[in-house]
Amino acid sequence: MFTQIFGKKTPVHVRDIKLYNTESSKIETFEPLNTNEVKMYSCGPTVYDYAHIGNLRAYVFSDILKRVLIHNGYLVKNTINITDFGHLTDDGDAGEDKMMKGLKRDGLPITLDAMRQLSDRYIKAFKNDIEELRILPPTNWARASDYIKKQISLIKTLEEKGFAYETSDGLYFDIAKFPKYGRLGKIDLKKLKSGARLEINTEKKHPADFAIWKKGSLGWESRWGTGFPGWHIECSAMAMDTLGKQIDIHTGGIDHIPIHHNAEIAQSEAATGKKFVKYWLHGAFLTIDSTKVSKSLGNTITMRHLMDRGFSGDDYRYWLLTAHYRSTVNFSWDALKAAKQALFRLKRYVYEEYKQKTATPDTTYLEKFDEKIANDLDTPGAIAVLWDMIKDDSLDNKTKCGTLMAMDEILDIGLSDNLYEGVRSLGVIATDELPEKIQELIDRREAARIACNWTEADLLRDAIKLKGYDLEDTTHGPKVTKVE
Ligand code: AMP
Ligand code: ZN
Repeated sequence: MFTQIFGKKTPVHVRDIKLYNTESSKIETFEPLNTNEVKMYSCGPTVYDYAHIGNLRAYVFSDILKRVLIHNGYLVKNTINITDFGHLTDDGDAGEDKMMKGLKRDGLPITLDAMRQLSDRYIKAFKNDIEELRILPPTNWARASDYIKKQISLIKTLEEKGFAYETSDGLYFDIAKFPKYGRLGKIDLKKLKSGARLEINTEKKHPADFAIWKKGSLGWESRWGTGFPGWHIECSAMAMDTLGKQIDIHTGGIDHIPIHHNAEIAQSEAATGKKFVKYWLHGAFLTIDSTKVSKSLGNTITMRHLMDRGFSGDDYRYWLLTAHYRSTVNFSWDALKAAKQALFRLKRYVYEEYKQKTATPDTTYLEKFDEKIANDLDTPGAIAVLWDMIKDDSLDNKTKCGTLMAMDEILDIGLSDNLYEGVRSLGVIATDELPEKIQELIDRREAARIACNWTEADLLRDAIKLKGYDLEDTTHGPKVTKVE
């Protein structure tokens, strides 16, 4: 199990951690704001639907980052927010509200209560996905609708300090009052102004000004009337409330760089006069057939889809880690199948061949592995070291097993489960109560599943059912129940 090193007064940092900071566009050596504690905020999901596998990539990336920090002696306090209102389909101020879209799709009334009900469902599903992917739960889950007062108070501060102006449809942040606006991704504001498409909202002074309060018939009461806070303000308010005015690391997907994160910087720094975030880290996108993952294109894939085809959270996590977080990855079932087979081999080593008997890890390989991963989270490089170690005949099995399990503290791909669970994850199930014939069919179906031969796997499942047994696929292999 992974343990966090709590309460150390003196730094115990094992090695330098290098991280690519979007703000400087450079790899920097990580230096925390406070000696030993790291405050980290990750933009969370908009819970109007199931998270797709692209969204989930963003949290596997921040999980590796968190583990690397902990592994190197830092105490990490982190927040993931949950957007349960106000995120429009466009990160600017255009488009439809995603939650409203969800309400209409599910035939729910357009009320705050129904919105809460809708988000409850998808929060639960998101947390299941997180667990399936072995992502460490954050110190704080911050749900936007629980922080309305904090958001209103931040908006008031911005208004009082002269950073906002009111229009007929809301309150806007006036970027002209914040000359450093757009430093993330080096946004050229002049170009943006001259190249702006016909601005829908003619009351905006600059196309990059963004709503911090939206007036409307649905929402909460405020001095600007009924409505709701603009999407960007929630992250500033919740980051500052849960972690403080200044934080070490902020993560998100690259789509957040131009608008959302520049808006977060402007709001937070205008309110406090302090630098908001020291290191901005962004994960690249996952594409499917080299195309954007999008509901409207009908190409979204969720964790449930992966599991229905016999892939576990570990398979998907392992596949993601074979690519660097700053590289775009293209999803394909074949690529995932290859990752599953590789991970299956690894698990076989640990649970079948080495029988999980361990000795002290090999320091040379472990050091190489740690170096790679501390070098801007080079997980593909670290996984290459792992395979080199397995193939090294000069090491005995116990040492190999110990080293793999140590590496799994960061990778967490199911190499350090207990032996029983591990063996089950290989698809081997308890046989004592099953007739031999049934066991044989189950074994054949598992083989078909591993070979991704879905038609045969389905036929075998039907055959098992006809003989009175139900098969349920779980992350840890098939669960068999007798049909009454
Ligand atoms: P959202 O639910 O749209 O607010 O997004 C949640 C997280 O997923 C954010 O950090 C996004 O940047 C990230 N994200 C969205 N689409 C993708 C994708 N295709 N690949 C990787 N990350 C994504
Ligand atoms: Zn955010």
